[in-house]
Amino acid sequence: MQYISTRGSSNPLTFVQAVLEGLARDGGLLVPKEIPDFSGQLNRLSSLSYKELALEVFTPFVDGDIPREVLYKLIDKSYNVFANNEVTPLKFLDNITILELFHGPTLAFKDVALQFLGNLFEEILKNNDIRLNILGATSGDTGSAAIHGVRGKERINIFMLHPKGKVSPIQEKQMTTVLDKNVFNVAVEGTFDDAQSIVKQIFNDLEFRDKYHLGAVNSINWARVMAQIVYYFYAAFRFREKYPSTEIVFSVPTGNFGDIYAGYLAKKMGLPIKRLILATNENDILYRVLETGEYKISSVKSTLSPSMDIQIASNFERYVFDITGQKGEVVAQKMKTLAETGKFDLTAEEHNATKSVFLPVRVNTKETLETIRKYKVKGVLLDPHTAVGVAAAEKSGFSQVIALSTAHPAKFSEAVVNAIGEEPSYPESLIGILDKECKCETVKNNYIDVEKLIEAKFL
Ligand SMILES: *Cc1c(COP(=O)(O)O)cnc(C)c1O
Repeated sequence: MQYISTRGSSNPLTFVQAVLEGLARDGGLLVPKEIPDFSGQLNRLSSLSYKELALEVFTPFVDGDIPREVLYKLIDKSYNVFANNEVTPLKFLDNITILELFHGPTLAFKDVALQFLGNLFEEILKNNDIRLNILGATSGDTGSAAIHGVRGKERINIFMLHPKGKVSPIQEKQMTTVLDKNVFNVAVEGTFDDAQSIVKQIFNDLEFRDKYHLGAVNSINWARVMAQIVYYFYAAFRFREKYPSTEIVFSVPTGNFGDIYAGYLAKKMGLPIKRLILATNENDILYRVLETGEYKISSVKSTLSPSMDIQIASNFERYVFDITGQKGEVVAQKMKTLAETGKFDLTAEEHNATKSVFLPVRVNTKETLETIRKYKVKGVLLDPHTAVGVAAAEKSGFSQVIALSTAHPAKFSEAVVNAIGEEPSYPESLIGILDKECKCETVKNNYIDVEKLIEAKFL
């Protein structure tokens, strides 16, 4: 399988190269040149366990770069750490089926991809005798999932920047109580944007970047998208066992378009998904592009579902590349227009194709809180991100929807308390976490200081 750039002017890469590079050299995102067709095998696949299914889904994308037995070992190791042996179990309610994606070590769906990516990196680095220093900035979820994905791994250091005192206490502790010697938490005296901008400045210091083998784990890595395809198949198969003739509709709380793009790929691979409900909070750039055909940046608003508070949905570029018929020069032009004017347009044809797959639904704070309250009465406590997806499912008009539950409610307890007036119960990994020993260095809002830190700790 060849991996090509969405902007059309990089040389094709293998799977392993695509995982190591993260981003294409021309600034585009890497995508597989072809999408495998599983439509003739659905029957056989439907009886597999989660891990066996992951092996089948990954095989054509990995395309022999990693031997099948080794690939299965990586999958096995990644999903053994999940607290539920189904990995992503389903809970059937009347009109909604909840797909629980939060049984990983940091209690959010990002673990599904980042546990696998950590093990995959370790394997690739070992085989090529290279080292990697991962550098990132986080406002919460991605940082802790990335740290837990690579803690204790050979040949990898991780430097994760967060804005000092501006991450929720639980999320901060999920990062800083990881004491492994390859994990470096860095609290920046500034905002999340300051931390992000330090990371960008360091990545742009090409000499430094090459010398210290810097890499990223953000949602643009292809392997993350690939890992997320699996649970769409798994959920659809379990759903069909219960409702053999009901159409399959997923509702996906969306920020960066990563999770829902994996659902789009599952559909392209032949899984009979009728519709993907694209659920957004008040940060509604994706809702608006579906309504109007115009992708237009506006300012970020803080909501109860912070992991969806984004301005640009990076993975949307992969989707646009697909609907233009893989015309890299067309995508490059749209991205140039976006950088210059803050917006770009879909053509009428692209817009119509998009509307036939995705149904956009926007959910506000009031609806989110009401949904948490309503489902509490039904006996299920939703986190605010999941509540956005569930509320969107209810507003969609479909009578049966699989709603992706992207985080455990205890992880966002403030919003839960706000909705129901009481604390959620805490899973074992969070009990006592606020009092545990932690490790974190504070730096000034200055990229040179962060570079010095990386130099001092370089492996
Ligand atoms: C990251 C995240 C999302 C959004 O996922 P995208 O792939 O960015 O669309 C939703 N919910 C939670 C809890 C998250 O951490």
